[in-house]
Amino acid sequence: MVKALWREIPGIIAILIIVGLASELAVLAGEQEHKTKWAPHVQLVLDATKPLQLDRGGRLPLYLWHAMNPGLLDPELAQELVEQLNVRGIGLVASWNPKNRERSLEESLRISRAQNKLGLRVNINATRCLYSFFDGDPRTAHVDDEGRPFWDTSFGKEKMGCPFAIDFRRPAIHEQLEYFIRGFKEAELDVDFIFADWEIDGPIEFNEAHATSKRCRRCRQNIQNIDEFGEFQKALRKLRCQLQRDVYAEPVKRSFPDVLVGNYGVYPHNGHRYWYDYYEYYVDGQPFKGDQRAKYRKWYDEFPKTGYTFAMPVVYPWARIFDWYDYDDTDYRWFYNMLLVAGNAGQNTPADVPVISFVHWHTIEPKEASGTATQFSEARYQELLWHALLRGTDTFFLWCRAEEAAKESRLVHEVYAAAQQYGSFLSEGIPINFDVPRQPGTVISGLELDGRVLVRRTDFGQSTPGAVPITVGDRSIEVLPASGRCQIISLR
Ligand SMILES: [Zn+2]
Repeated sequence: MVKALWREIPGIIAILIIVGLASELAVLAGEQEHKTKWAPHVQLVLDATKPLQLDRGGRLPLYLWHAMNPGLLDPELAQELVEQLNVRGIGLVASWNPKNRERSLEESLRISRAQNKLGLRVNINATRCLYSFFDGDPRTAHVDDEGRPFWDTSFGKEKMGCPFAIDFRRPAIHEQLEYFIRGFKEAELDVDFIFADWEIDGPIEFNEAHATSKRCRRCRQNIQNIDEFGEFQKALRKLRCQLQRDVYAEPVKRSFPDVLVGNYGVYPHNGHRYWYDYYEYYVDGQPFKGDQRAKYRKWYDEFPKTGYTFAMPVVYPWARIFDWYDYDDTDYRWFYNMLLVAGNAGQNTPADVPVISFVHWHTIEPKEASGTATQFSEARYQELLWHALLRGTDTFFLWCRAEEAAKESRLVHEVYAAAQQYGSFLSEGIPINFDVPRQPGTVISGLELDGRVLVRRTDFGQSTPGAVPITVGDRSIEVLPASGRCQIISLR
């Protein structure tokens, strides 16, 4: 049932996926428990990937959307699965689901015990614990001059309401998470990595939110100069940061002090966001930086105020990107934008904060998809992943639909696995370059470590020049063409 629905909505995703996929996977896992050893989505990951040739050492594991929620496994089987995935460099993730919390806690404890026993990271998906502040309660609505409640429907969610009316929801949301934290503390298990995909909920300043809030008596009382978008953005993002920090990041860190905690799309940046989520659109008057037909929105610096300990940029080929740029080499339209996104996070995130980038390969079409965007080629997508690694990404989190999972898992895993030969560069190297050529040309990324530089050079455009100079600190080095591979250049 869930699966059929899934196929009928090729459009999108996130809320469905986020809220829906966890249950879809659980359903699949439950149905299959007595038929095959592993749930089909997990078997698919095992089939699409190979054991690593080189031990990954202290490097973060690769995270894959379908290496998640394998069902209720016996302890021996849980250990076997965790091991099978670990030899591939993949970290198994368990979800916490407050809608079915006893069962969900037990499932996640069994996986986590196995991970703990093997000395591996305990990985948790907390998405469902954070939904929803806007749960449809009339008290969360905006209120007009006559005292009548009203909603903002521009996000595709029926009842997005007033950002100043959701504080009373904090205890309920907090308890959804706290139940699982208590369960883990009682089991003497620590969580090492926890992420959420908390998106269409809570205060968001885009779409019609500004226009809507200006009609709300309560919003006007709470925001001075509400007519100025900058003031409005600041007020809403401050609230959004406080919510994430108070009900999620801080409670998790209090119980698990060394935890990596973060949320989809929250990362340090240069003040601009180079992408729009599927439900977002530009509204006239909002500040942006133009680039051909792209409007890169001015973005609030939320990361430091959330208390998060890892960055989670979203490096996706959203269909609209294709029409933003004129490049004849259509691969460069995707590559250019996605490298801007990856580099923005890599360049602005402190060295001691891991960057775990959501990635995806298939074009993400909106519901009214025209389907005219030319698919990003596999080869150039894998090049992009390499450049992301050489610009500060520590590991990837692949999101994809079930029907895409075999291909998607293989593409990202191949790069993750091959990169292991440069493990020390990846763990300790410092990125040397964040330039993204405005026209298709030579793209160079690199990591410097102990007098050597690991570089990747990818050539777009008509002609391939010979050696290309690049500055590393106070030195200039020449980078020769080397299609599809990395080079190590000595600085001495
Ligand atoms: Zn309001």
